[in-house]
Amino acid sequence: MRAIVFSSHDYERQFLESAADHRHNLVFCAEKLDMDTVELARGAEAVVLFTSDRASAEVLEKLHKLGVQYICLRSVGHDHVDLDKAHKLGIKIANVPEYSPYAIAEHAVALLLALNRKIVTGQKLMDIGDFRLERLIGFDLHGKTVGIIGTGKIGSAFAHIMSGFGCRLLGFDPFPAANLVAKGLQYVSISQLFKQSDIISLHCPLNKETTYLLDTEAFSMMKKGVTLLNTSRGKVIESEALIRALDEGKVALAGLDVYEKEDTFFFKSLNGKRNTDLVFERLRSYPNVLITGHQAFLTIEALEGIARITNSNLDAFCENRPCMNEL
Ligand code: NAD
Repeated sequence: MRAIVFSSHDYERQFLESAADHRHNLVFCAEKLDMDTVELARGAEAVVLFTSDRASAEVLEKLHKLGVQYICLRSVGHDHVDLDKAHKLGIKIANVPEYSPYAIAEHAVALLLALNRKIVTGQKLMDIGDFRLERLIGFDLHGKTVGIIGTGKIGSAFAHIMSGFGCRLLGFDPFPAANLVAKGLQYVSISQLFKQSDIISLHCPLNKETTYLLDTEAFSMMKKGVTLLNTSRGKVIESEALIRALDEGKVALAGLDVYEKEDTFFFKSLNGKRNTDLVFERLRSYPNVLITGHQAFLTIEALEGIARITNSNLDAFCENRPCMNEL
């Protein structure tokens, strides 16, 4: 099957080619899919998309006219695709529902430890030969209350790690996981989670209910000095409300791997140009905010998993078999 891999990066190409093993004709293009680039799909039966691609209703209509029948997502999240429109057009879509939940959960922990133990500040002081400790005081994770919003695959992996630190675990999820309750996690209402948690970590999908779940009202319920981690989707947090919460000292530390308007500049170089997103620049300016550019998934194991499952989704579509990851 001929498939155009949009938003493709050098780091993933060898994994995708090796998993395809010449079964599919993968054509790599660095451009992200949108109305300006959709024409690149001409002649392909499938497109392979990343979270930076935008499969809006308009783009899907054009893909359909070009003869594209299948969309394979190289991601868990599918908030960048208009699923209803794709279904109406008869375009089949599959995602990678699980590759390595550990990759993302471990990155959330990396952000937490780096923030709490002032690793970045410590490194900067070390670089200038300043060996004073005054600005480097952290806190023990042991005994702290950790609120996990979304206790699916990634939230569960995060819960297991934090349990190892000796934390008290709270969870909020419309579908509680019995195995986590057996491990000691207590499900509570979202407001109780906000009120009781020292650390809050987001692991829910972006949907109607979770868009701006963390807004001014939510921040007002939180403990003063809370640590916030977001490795889910940027739009779960209202960035301007977070800025106010940081200014008020409500949020003491924030570790963010995602940002609500990341698709305009993540995954590429600004080549020395200024970033015109002033909200992002403001967030970036806080010494107590650590931002990574949507890299939580980026481990060898995850890249292998994404490549393998993406190709097996293409196999199923190509051979007209039921695809277990069809959305
Ligand atoms: P999952 O489907 O296994 O788990 C998501 C959980 O969220 C489910 O248990 C679901 O019931 C719960 N949920 C749904 N609506 C909710 C709500 N309103 N409030 C609280 N919980 C709610 O998915 P997963 O594999 O754990 O991935 C979670 C999210 O992580 C993805 O949707 C994606 O947005 C994000 N993600 C980010 C990266 C990254 O690199 N930063 C990589 C992969 C996934």
